[in-house]
Amino acid sequence: MISDIAAVPLSPPAAQQPSQGELALCRHCDLVQVMPELAPGEEACCSRCGLHLDARHPQPVLRPVLYAGSALFMLLLANFFPFVSMFAAGNSNEMSFFDTSSVLFSEHHQWLAILIWLLIQAVPATCMLAVLYLKLGMLYSLPARTWVARVLYMLKPWSMVDIFLMGLIISFVKLVADADISLGPSFWAFCLFCLLHLRTFQVIDRRELWSKIAPCPPPQVAAHAGKTGLQQNLKLCQVCTAIIPITQTHCSRCHTKVRLRHRSSVQNTLALLIAATLLYIPANLMPIMRTVSFGETIDSTIISGLILMWQDGAYPVAIIILIASVIVPVAKILIMFWLCYLTRLPFSRRQRHSSQIYRLVDWVGRWSMVDVLVVAIMAALVRFDLLMSVYPGVGALVFAAVVILTMLAALSFDPRLLWDPLPEQEEARFDATT
Ligand SMILES: [Zn+2]
Ligand SMILES: [Zn+2]
Repeated sequence: MISDIAAVPLSPPAAQQPSQGELALCRHCDLVQVMPELAPGEEACCSRCGLHLDARHPQPVLRPVLYAGSALFMLLLANFFPFVSMFAAGNSNEMSFFDTSSVLFSEHHQWLAILIWLLIQAVPATCMLAVLYLKLGMLYSLPARTWVARVLYMLKPWSMVDIFLMGLIISFVKLVADADISLGPSFWAFCLFCLLHLRTFQVIDRRELWSKIAPCPPPQVAAHAGKTGLQQNLKLCQVCTAIIPITQTHCSRCHTKVRLRHRSSVQNTLALLIAATLLYIPANLMPIMRTVSFGETIDSTIISGLILMWQDGAYPVAIIILIASVIVPVAKILIMFWLCYLTRLPFSRRQRHSSQIYRLVDWVGRWSMVDVLVVAIMAALVRFDLLMSVYPGVGALVFAAVVILTMLAALSFDPRLLWDPLPEQEEARFDATT
C-alpha cells in the first residue's frame, strides 16, 4: 500500500541546502520542494497543489518486467482465440479481438478502424514493450533508453484498454436482452491484459525511472525550496523532471527542448476547444450507429440512442452513456474555457483547487471515447445480415474527433499558468527568456 508524504516546501539553511537531485519542481504549480527520503511503498505529493511527485516501489525492476511481460503475453492470447460469440434467432456470430478494427475497415470506416486499433492494441503494446526495454535496459545498459522513455510518456494518455473493457460491458448489457452472449478464452485474456497493463503503470514512477536512465545533471545555478522556479530563473523539463536554468534551451539529461511554459498554451487550448465545440454539434446530429433489424433500418444519434435505451429500461447503460457522451465532453469543454479565463485573473481571484479540477477533467475526458468503442464492438458482434446488423455511422468518427480535440486541449494547457503572476508580466518574461 502506497502512503502519501507531502514534499517539504520550506527552504533549509544554506549549509543544509540539498543538492539539485534532491529538489523537485512541481510541473503543475512550479514550486521548488525538497524531496523527502522515501522508503519502498511511499510516495511524495506536492505540498501546494497535491500533484504526485515521486514514489519508491518495492522491487522496481522485477515487478514492472513481470507485469509488462505478462500483459504482452495476454495481449497475444487475446488475438489468437475466439473473443465473444453471439447467438440470436438460431444464428451465431463469433468475433475476434482484432475484428473490432478489421470489421470497421471492411465497412469503409478506415480512419475509425485505424484509430481504434491504435488505442486498444498498438499504443498499449508499445507502452508495455517500452517498459520492458527500459527496465531490462537498467540491467544490460541498452541504448536509446532516453528516446524510449520519452515515447512511453508521450503515448501513455492514449492507451484506452480500460475504456474498451467498459465498452465491452456496456455492449453486453445492451445485447443480453435480445441474444445469448458467450465469452471466449480471448475475452478473459484481454481482461487480464487490461489489469496487468494498469498495474504496470502503477509500479513505475517517472522520476525514479529517469534517475536510473541517466543521473540528474549537476546544478548550474542554486535552487531554493519554497520559491517557484519562475522566481529563481529555473524551469522544469516536463519529460525527465530535471531542473535547468531558463537560459538553457535543451535539457542536459533527455535533450528535449524545454520551454518555460507550453508554447502559446492558452491560445492553442482555446483553438482546440473551439474546434471541439464546433464539431460537437454535427457529432450529435449525425448518426453514430445504423441498426438493420428484420429489413428495417434505424439511424441513431447519441441522444436518440440514449432515449431508446431509456425507453427499453436499460437505465444503468443509458446513465453511463449520458455521463460519458454528453455530460463529460460538455463539462470538460466548459471547465477548460473557465481555466483559460482564470489564467487572466489576478492571483487572488483564482480558485485554490483549480489544479485538482484540471487533473480531474484531464483524467475523466478520455472516458468519453467509450461510446465510440461501443459502436465498434456492436458492429463487429452484431452481424446477421438483414435479420439484425449494426453498422457504424459517420457521427462516430466525428465524436471521436471531439474527444481527441478535448484531450489535446487538456495536454496543451499549462496548469502552471494558474499559479503564475499576471499574464502581462509573464509574456514580458517569455520574450526575454525563450
Ligand atoms: Zn504543485
Ligand atoms: Zn529532460
